[in-house]
Amino acid sequence: MFDWRALRTDLADLVLARSCAGCEAPGNVLCAICWAYLTRGVHARELSDGAVAHASTNYLGIGKSVVIAHKEHGWHALTPMLGALLARAVTSVTAETVTLVPVPPHVNALARRGTDPLADIVTEATRALRAIGQSASSASLLLRTRDSGAMKLLGREQRRLAIESSFALTDRPMCIRGQIVVVDDVITTGITVTEVRRTLERAGWQVAGIAAVATTPMRGSRR
Ligand SMILES: [Zn+2]
Repeated sequence: MFDWRALRTDLADLVLARSCAGCEAPGNVLCAICWAYLTRGVHARELSDGAVAHASTNYLGIGKSVVIAHKEHGWHALTPMLGALLARAVTSVTAETVTLVPVPPHVNALARRGTDPLADIVTEATRALRAIGQSASSASLLLRTRDSGAMKLLGREQRRLAIESSFALTDRPMCIRGQIVVVDDVITTGITVTEVRRTLERAGWQVAGIAAVATTPMRGSRR
């Protein structure tokens, strides 16, 4: 079985003279203790339609800090590690040849950041999967037909309505090999990944599962 914990040394030690994104310990972008925490188990998260998503860590504490450092503060040095965490979640869905289909970015977020953090993570995830012998590629099969606005400010029902029918298939030709896994960096309500999967299935694609770097805990008020 692949030793995910050993991977951090190769990845994190490439970038020195920074503090850990998880605990702020000086040294490198992610310390060994935080990496051990992030790789201690895969979380299965039941979604509202009964499907199960897999994530490498909870979107709390260290997991949340690391994702935000990458997504909002541009700590690109974390990308290979987040890719490895996503890859690990994907291996819980399938060990077969896989095509990762990312949730498409919001147009305004893309413009604001100038990058697509999830696309970068997915590239690293396919690399990590190939490194452990699992054939993997990615395909941006979807685009957003409308931006859903400031989703964080919406309640669950408003959010569901805003997301519903907000995805469509791109008309660019895409190469799909093996099983399709829908991927995202963080699952909060689960509405987005559920809608992405529904959009793919309505178009005739079979989706093997859903994987993410992090998920909010299943129990609690935010699902
Ligand atoms: Zn740390």
